[in-house]
Amino acid sequence: MTHLTLQAVTKQFNASYAVDHVDLRVPDGKLVCFLGPSGCGKTTLLRMIAGLETPTSGRVMFAGRDITHLPANRRDFGMVFQSLALFPHMTVAQNIAYPLRLRKIDKTAQARRIAELLDLIQLPHMANRPVTQLSGGQRQRVAIARAIASSPKLLLLDEPLSALDAKLREAMQVEIRLLQQRLGITTIMVTHDQREAMTMADEIVVMERGRIAQVGTPLNIYREPVNEFVADFIGLGNILPVTVAKGGQIVLPGGQQIGVTASTRAPETAGDIRLLIRPEDVCIKRADAGAVANRIAGKVTFIRDVGASIEATIDCDGFVLTAATTPRETPDLSVGMVVSAELPAYSCKLIAARTA
Ligand code: ATP
Repeated sequence: MTHLTLQAVTKQFNASYAVDHVDLRVPDGKLVCFLGPSGCGKTTLLRMIAGLETPTSGRVMFAGRDITHLPANRRDFGMVFQSLALFPHMTVAQNIAYPLRLRKIDKTAQARRIAELLDLIQLPHMANRPVTQLSGGQRQRVAIARAIASSPKLLLLDEPLSALDAKLREAMQVEIRLLQQRLGITTIMVTHDQREAMTMADEIVVMERGRIAQVGTPLNIYREPVNEFVADFIGLGNILPVTVAKGGQIVLPGGQQIGVTASTRAPETAGDIRLLIRPEDVCIKRADAGAVANRIAGKVTFIRDVGASIEATIDCDGFVLTAATTPRETPDLSVGMVVSAELPAYSCKLIAARTA
């Protein structure tokens, strides 16, 4: 039993709550992402797990032990932060050896472990290279090798890829994920990039103003967001203010009515509701395709064509929809075209509106 559990973990800075009664269980061997906008408390929460920050109240439990007040250097967790903090005057091997030296591992075992890690990060011939002579991605890998050198039970990553350019960043996301899966090391990663979280995580913890808004698999959070904040933060979405008519029909902002299936019926809240439909679920039909239920007339006002996919903005007289399509599905789509946008009943999700 090595799992990490947070029990009502809270951190106050002066009068404000950076982290507000967070309860969480991190499953063994999984990669969990803390995701949320700037200032929502992701880093503070990670720092409390690392032991770099003391909770105002609540408990951090690891492997059945209360480690809330255990100093960081006695937790044996691996860490990689935004500023990698590799030692610039040292070689690759010396950097990786650092935590092993601290633990007084003998020289032969150190050499064996360094060779193993260099293979793992695919830099076997770079042992004696000064880290200042490495590319951004290579440095990143060395930082990860150093963090896992002493086989920590938990790996903590705080925006480790934010300094890299987009292409390298995407490549590293896959690399870190594959490495994490191969080693089976429980990992928590902070990111504000929802695509990064979707690519890498087994589980995403969406945070809003110091609290957990939702925990789930990437797909679960994308498909079943609990509220407008999560729906808006994860992926592109059409989020429309709607009302429910007497017969259960949904009234769109332009007054048009559509039906939704039972599984998407309004949450049991008294507050305002929103209709969420993802762009890939909006079907663009020809204007003369017939007046079938859930079809809304609209005019194409903008097209973003990136070759493999097309994103169309459709003005539906009262609201605007974004629809994702492909050149094959809609070969003759053009700005100014009058179309019929179908919102399939089973793809429409009713969610609680943002409260503030
Ligand atoms: P970002 O993505 O911008 O790094 P974050 O989600 O990691 O943001 P935190 O850095 O955890 O957010 O900060 C949460 C809140 O706590 C913010 O309002 C921040 O200003 C505040 N905060 C963080 N550290 C301190 C500190 N040492 N003293 C006072 N306030 C702090």
